[in-house]
Amino acid sequence: MPEPPAEGDVLAEADAVVVTIGRKRLLDGVSLRVHAGEVLALVGPNGAGKSTLLSVLAGDLPPSAGTVSIHGRPATSWSTVDLARRRAVLPQHNPVSFPFDVLAVVEMGRAPWEGTPAEDGDERAVAAALADTELTAFATRTYPTLSGGEQARTALARVLAQSASLLLLDEPTAALDLRHQEQVLALARARAAEGAGVLVVLHDLGLAAAHADRIAVLAAGGLVEAGPPEEVCHAELLSGVYQHPVEVITHPRTGKPIVLPYR
Ligand code: ADP
Ligand code: MG
Repeated sequence: MPEPPAEGDVLAEADAVVVTIGRKRLLDGVSLRVHAGEVLALVGPNGAGKSTLLSVLAGDLPPSAGTVSIHGRPATSWSTVDLARRRAVLPQHNPVSFPFDVLAVVEMGRAPWEGTPAEDGDERAVAAALADTELTAFATRTYPTLSGGEQARTALARVLAQSASLLLLDEPTAALDLRHQEQVLALARARAAEGAGVLVVLHDLGLAAAHADRIAVLAAGGLVEAGPPEEVCHAELLSGVYQHPVEVITHPRTGKPIVLPYR
């Protein structure tokens, strides 16, 4: 059983990471840390390298240069199962080609704990993940028959059931309605409050500003800025990054920035 992380521990760290595929440089010297207890939103335009960076921080994609550590050790030094007990990854695309039912998909999240004392918690973790994603009533439905949003929530439930203290979520809200988007970020916050570190790729800057402790902005394979939402959400910076003029206003009640495309 991995030791639970202490508040502020660095759970994943990319240092001067470069990823080159063929002649294309996908990441160009990116350094970023994910700490225990934080929700870190990763934003940036299509093709910026967000999914690539997430895969690097997950230890799934070895960088061409630079270093990656997970839970304080080089990513490559962990065995597959030890890595799976420490970090859970929600990929941007979640193809399930076999007609598994929802319960079976979510139970797959428990595979890393097979044969360990944590196995005793399988049923509880699966039931909690289904309840947290409002899928309890869908347990016997087959995955291919679900709506896009229901499939996305099932994939998230699998990741939650894995009970890892580092969560790497690639656009978990992309297919979701307003209520379920808020729910996903609330779940991320709850996990962070329990000591996990959460990296979440988002497109909705308002969602990021409202729920994340820090926002990291990636553009053209480089990290432009990383900091608290109030520091990062500046019209000039975001207009440049997105190549579209934006306005930033402050929510009168929460004081959080709201980012609007200039229309
Ligand atoms: P994001 O998630 O920010 O939209 P990605 O990390 O998926 O961006 O991809 C970054 C860039 O790298 C994109 O332009 C994408 O087309 C390109 N890319 C990703 N994977 C490959 C690959 N295997 N070969 C060539 N180009 C790739
Ligand atoms: Mg992506």
